[in-house]
Amino acid sequence: MDTLTAVLKAAERAAHWHAAQRRKGTAQEPYINHLIEVARLVAEATDGGDPNLVVAALLHDAIEDQPVSRAAIVAEFGEDVAALVVEVTDDKTLPKQQRKRLQVEHAPSLSSRAAILKLADKTSNLTALTVSPPADWNAARRLEYVQWGRDVAARLKVENAWLQERFANAADAAERAARA
Ligand code: ZN
Repeated sequence: MDTLTAVLKAAERAAHWHAAQRRKGTAQEPYINHLIEVARLVAEATDGGDPNLVVAALLHDAIEDQPVSRAAIVAEFGEDVAALVVEVTDDKTLPKQQRKRLQVEHAPSLSSRAAILKLADKTSNLTALTVSPPADWNAARRLEYVQWGRDVAARLKVENAWLQERFANAADAAERAARA
């Protein structure tokens, strides 16, 4: 499969798998908006040089949030993409606080490519927290979320100044909005 077809096929699959899912914020955006934003950040950060990572970005929440198996991703997109998705997938059988702690603990052991994907994901989530925070989140909860994002990001082994700056700007903006 050529890379353009693979990326569009992943976008189509993601739109289908996440069709009924909305983001947590008051705007209730379709979840695919998040997946496309993360994929675009990954594509831009890597100058379009890692199509499999862009495909993985489109599929990064499929196993975690939808009943999609690793095997299904292997069958359609190959082992490399599936391994990247699994690297950034939380174990949803664990309690939320434990999952959040494990993201901080596991961040340094992510491969450099999965680390770029994770940092793009955190950037997108912090941007959403600024423009469309969940209605029931008070300032303290928003600030705690920003700090958690910073804790994960600080431990990721990413050497990508462009993406690190995008993340820092998103975290600063989310913090300012929470304090406003
Ligand atoms: Zn995500």
